[in-house]
Amino acid sequence: MQVETDVLIAGAGPAGICAALSLKKFGIPFIVIDGEKIGGLLRHANLVENFPFLPAQSGMKVAMQLAEILRKNKIKVLKEKAEFVRFNGDFFQVGTNKSVFSTRFLIAATGTKPRIPLIFRSAGNRLLNEKMPEVLVRLKGKKIAIVGAGDAAFDYAGSLSRRNKVFIFNRSSRYKCASFLFDRAGRSANVKYFANIQVQRTEETAGGLRIRCRNNERVFVFEVDYLLCATGRKAELSFLDGVRDVMPRLKSSRRLFIVGDARNGIFRQMLISMADGMKAAMEIKRRIEK
Ligand SMILES: Cc1cc2nc3c(=O)[nH]c(=O)nc-3n(C[C@H](O)[C@H](O)[C@H](O)COP(=O)(O)OP(=O)(O)OC[C@H]3O[C@@H](n4cnc5c(N)ncnc54)[C@H](O)[C@@H]3O)c2cc1C
Repeated sequence: MQVETDVLIAGAGPAGICAALSLKKFGIPFIVIDGEKIGGLLRHANLVENFPFLPAQSGMKVAMQLAEILRKNKIKVLKEKAEFVRFNGDFFQVGTNKSVFSTRFLIAATGTKPRIPLIFRSAGNRLLNEKMPEVLVRLKGKKIAIVGAGDAAFDYAGSLSRRNKVFIFNRSSRYKCASFLFDRAGRSANVKYFANIQVQRTEETAGGLRIRCRNNERVFVFEVDYLLCATGRKAELSFLDGVRDVMPRLKSSRRLFIVGDARNGIFRQMLISMADGMKAAMEIKRRIEK
């Protein structure tokens, strides 16, 4: 089935949602699709404390509020995953697992995917990364190793340590997260932090996962239930491979917009993504008016 629209927004995280709300206000026809649930990565956040006008609350709650705002504005999100894109000079053809969209403008608000070093792949089903937040919050009485030292590692530790024991492994002596997250983890009896410790091998066992680590000359072996790898993320833009060659031209001619975490490198924050989405919608409005 071929569906025509002025703007297709791929991704209904904070960036895609703000793009949609702005386009709605401008009266520009658009379609929003998302392969998963509304709210994107925000749904993983333990506590969102940097939204200036709202009290601190879980990312899941913020995501639910965003979904409610979409509903009030009569904006539907189609549960479809963009798989490929072609450009014929006038229109994009965006193929999903269900349909093909023909669109003048394309907003890629598809966020990021985790970088999982090869060494952790052997953790198999014991690797929690791609599990939905709903699965993470249901874990209880487990031992969970988190590898990483940034905001995400410590934020995950915050949510998982409510009902589980958490070990954080940092290969260096310096942590990279905000100091309040580090201090909060330090106050939890359920979080143990290890600096200067390098994971060397992971191995699935009958009942869990064995993690072999090295600290200087000493070797430690941890038996845990799960491993969560918070060792960085990279842009999720694989569906754009078909237009990779003409991407600079599509971006400079304001036909293709890459917004939010998908373009912001290490500056991955909800408000930055939201502003990005809104800006893309404003640029499209200007382009149409011209
Ligand atoms: C543990 C954790 C805690 C965090 N805490 C905070 C915090 O306290 N404060 C803060 O400001 N930020 C926080 N963040 C960061 C914040 O969640 C992100 O910056 C924000 O969600 C990025 O929004 P986005 O819309 O750019 O991308 P995302 O939220 O990643 O949304 C992208 C969406 O695109 C969809 N998608 C991907 N590929 C496709 C495709 N091919 N087709 C269709 N849909 C697709 C995905 O399903 C997803 O819904 C946290 C992140 C993590 C991991």
